[in-house]
Amino acid sequence: MQKSAGPSSLACLEIHFPGLDQLSEVYADLERQIAEFKRRAGIECLRKCTLCCTTAKFVEASILEMLPLSLHFWEEGRGEELLEKLEGIHPEAPCILLNPDPPGELSGGCSHYRFRPLVCRLFGFSATVDKNSNPSVVICKPLNRMDRGIADRINERIRQGLPVPLMADFSRRVALLHPHFGQEKYPVNFALREALEIAGRRIHFLKSTRRET
Ligand code: SF4
Repeated sequence: MQKSAGPSSLACLEIHFPGLDQLSEVYADLERQIAEFKRRAGIECLRKCTLCCTTAKFVEASILEMLPLSLHFWEEGRGEELLEKLEGIHPEAPCILLNPDPPGELSGGCSHYRFRPLVCRLFGFSATVDKNSNPSVVICKPLNRMDRGIADRINERIRQGLPVPLMADFSRRVALLHPHFGQEKYPVNFALREALEIAGRRIHFLKSTRRET
């Protein structure tokens, strides 16, 4: 990795990756649907719960999903620091963005919540579809333990017409945004490392091209 994408404003470089604008639009649509689903189903994450983030072997993301955060880290001048942190990391290591002891005002432990990938947005507030095309809500373990009937009750509401975001639909929409970076899923730390490297190379290239002109 070239050590050249340092702490300077990247705005003048006009870094553009196909699909990133549309990714924000898909996320905005998902946020709207999830807000409505949460309100009508009456569910919410448990305060300070970070369980889904600590079971990181199930948290997978595409490179495209991690590009916005990677660009943010390079913009902050932290790209190299993050790459060093991610070097040789185990595929099942917890997500490095997780703060296991979030400060008082935060309800969860994601240190970069605004940039979280798709699965972190979907999990707990979306549904899978069975072979008969019936949606079934995915409820996290802590909520299930607190209320054993919660999934059945919400699924009954879904059968009666409660709209629920479908995991497969959103995964497909995101995957189609970029022919390479949107397709493959990797453990979240791996996806971040790849995205950091790709963004860093692009920044280095654009900076050296500007110097030459
Ligand atoms: S990106 Fe944020 S929400 Fe997703 S697993 Fe990591 S810490 Fe948790």
